[in-house]
Amino acid sequence: MTVDTLCVQGGWQPKKGEPRQVPVYATTTFKYETTQQMGDLFDLKEPGYFYTRLANPTNDAVAKKIAALEGGVAAILTSSGQAASTFAVLNLCNAGDHVVCSAQIYGGTFNLFAVSLKKLGIEFTFVNPDAPAKEIEKAFRPNTKCVFGETVANPSGAVLDIAKFAKLAHKHGVPLIMDNTFPTPVLCRPFEFGCDIVTHATTKYMDGHSSQVGGCIVDSGNFDWEAHADKFPGLVEPDASYHGLSYTKKFGKLAFIVKCTAHLMRDFGSIPSPFNAFLLNLGLESLHVRIRRHAESALKIAKWLKTQKKIAWVNFAGLPDSPYRKLVKKQIKGGIPCGVMTFGVKGGRDASIKFMDSLKLIGIVTHVADAWSCVLHPASHTHRQLSDEQLKAAGIPPDLIRLSVGLEDPEDLIADLKQALAQVK
Ligand SMILES: *Cc1c(COP(=O)(O)O)cnc(C)c1O
Repeated sequence: MTVDTLCVQGGWQPKKGEPRQVPVYATTTFKYETTQQMGDLFDLKEPGYFYTRLANPTNDAVAKKIAALEGGVAAILTSSGQAASTFAVLNLCNAGDHVVCSAQIYGGTFNLFAVSLKKLGIEFTFVNPDAPAKEIEKAFRPNTKCVFGETVANPSGAVLDIAKFAKLAHKHGVPLIMDNTFPTPVLCRPFEFGCDIVTHATTKYMDGHSSQVGGCIVDSGNFDWEAHADKFPGLVEPDASYHGLSYTKKFGKLAFIVKCTAHLMRDFGSIPSPFNAFLLNLGLESLHVRIRRHAESALKIAKWLKTQKKIAWVNFAGLPDSPYRKLVKKQIKGGIPCGVMTFGVKGGRDASIKFMDSLKLIGIVTHVADAWSCVLHPASHTHRQLSDEQLKAAGIPPDLIRLSVGLEDPEDLIADLKQALAQVK
């Protein structure tokens, strides 16, 4: 089945007389008939539901759809994209471990890694993803446990060479984790280029209607944990909290996701509400139609912006003259990576602010990648504590505007951009 069909029918296949739409199992718990039956569930001897903090049938149906879309063996939904990134790393790393990470990542993920996980004793080395493999390789240490990056970075739009990073990770006996939020599996399937684990902020295009916050982790099932047992004792060696069960021995290719559920979700509890999973599934049913429209409209608008005398620069990997053109052709189906771009208005910070304040259709919100077009000014919003000098060092010019192109008529959006530009003196 193609991704388009899986968007609609993946994960939930009703049988005779069953509901067409995945039901919302609004229940914390599930009933059993004998003490032994429930005991077997606690020991992971039998599959089954017993408490929604660990697993819920609505969530599982939606996770199964996303696993199918990515071409993975299993997936788990989380309550946010941040929770997905946290669990993906904590499922592999303990205090004293190390991660090689692309420097071009979402600001929230950067803070999570550089500040919060560092406090827990996990160290991150941030590398320039565009650097040659030899340069990036210097970041690896004996205690490196995984490599992390974004397929298309938010907000920089950098496209990461997945095969280059996968090769480096595998050479050092560790998996590559990619945050695939921006292109979604409709436009990019990282497992096809050697990536091992994918994470998502389903909050963005997958939901697509700014209706709920959520995340997902998908495992390809390809990484051989037992071949690197010394690095991943948590997956291979007996787990004392399950009577000495080994995840790889008992669950084979499902080991990573089962451990994530049975261990991290059990202890940290970042499960999404089944109702949110239901909303996410509605979004997924049209993801393939929506994301292509987002991408095509964004390309039209990026091309128009480039013709405007008052626009200083436009950064969009869908443009024919993008430095990422070759990578985009290789990794992105259809050649346009998403609907998000950045640009600057001539006249710097003040001109960009005046322009944004003059927009009428396009809203100022802290969000991207949904049906409603929106803009954000990192220098005034997400990065407002930084000086102009610090902004430059972080690769965020003070005039940078992030535009997320929605599903409105692109001609209406261009008209709005045009009238706002006219307000800039
Ligand atoms: C938004 C975002 C996240 C975080 O997701 P939340 O659902 O807001 O926690 C992670 N990665 C990327 C690329 C994002 O855009």
